[in-house]
Amino acid sequence: MNGQYKHILVLTGAGISAESGLATFRDADGLWNNHKVDDVATIEAFERNPAFVHQFYNDMKPELLKAKPNSAHLALAKLEKEYAGEVNIVTQNVDTLHEKAGSQKVYHIHGQINQAVCLNCGRVLETWDDVDTQTRCPHCGISGMMKPNIVFFGESLLYMDKVTQLLSNCDLFVSVGTSGVVYPAAGFVQTAKYHGAKTYEFNLEAASNNYLFNEHVYGKCGETLPSFVYELLESVK
Ligand SMILES: [Zn+2]
Repeated sequence: MNGQYKHILVLTGAGISAESGLATFRDADGLWNNHKVDDVATIEAFERNPAFVHQFYNDMKPELLKAKPNSAHLALAKLEKEYAGEVNIVTQNVDTLHEKAGSQKVYHIHGQINQAVCLNCGRVLETWDDVDTQTRCPHCGISGMMKPNIVFFGESLLYMDKVTQLLSNCDLFVSVGTSGVVYPAAGFVQTAKYHGAKTYEFNLEAASNNYLFNEHVYGKCGETLPSFVYELLESVK
């Protein structure tokens, strides 16, 4: 490794949050916290029963508010703060553990739990309080039009223009704790590679798209990522 990287892009997924004790929302059997995806994570479900869907996300808030960043989150925050080049994080996680660790350039492509978006004006309300079918938008003043700012199945990911730009610009792409099965995020590595980036995978075990990466580091990312960050920081001294 050497200090040639000017633009580092880190993609994080459920694996990094799991090491902070947060369960993977989407289990192998297709349930989200024991609910069917069709009941809590689609636009149709929200239109059918908005109170129920709001309640589902409200119920997740206390655990996510309480969760603490682990040494992988802290290492990435340290990298952003101390590295001479640019460091951006694109995360699939709806928790705010990167922010709690101190990272500033974080793009939540699947949304975040502490936000609701107004379907009337499109602006975002940031709150850890419950949001329901009566909640008033602080921007346009309309009540009852707030939707959890969580990307439901069938909806477009957030920040994709920015992500596309970051992918074409990065010279180091690091994937941390992602399963490699959920597209389009699973294909980000190909885009980064196409534009000339070196690519690293940090996972508990090989992801299904692991053959797309140049380098693989298997094990708990809370243990493997800090030394990787240390090497990166040393490489530019
Ligand atoms: Zn509004």
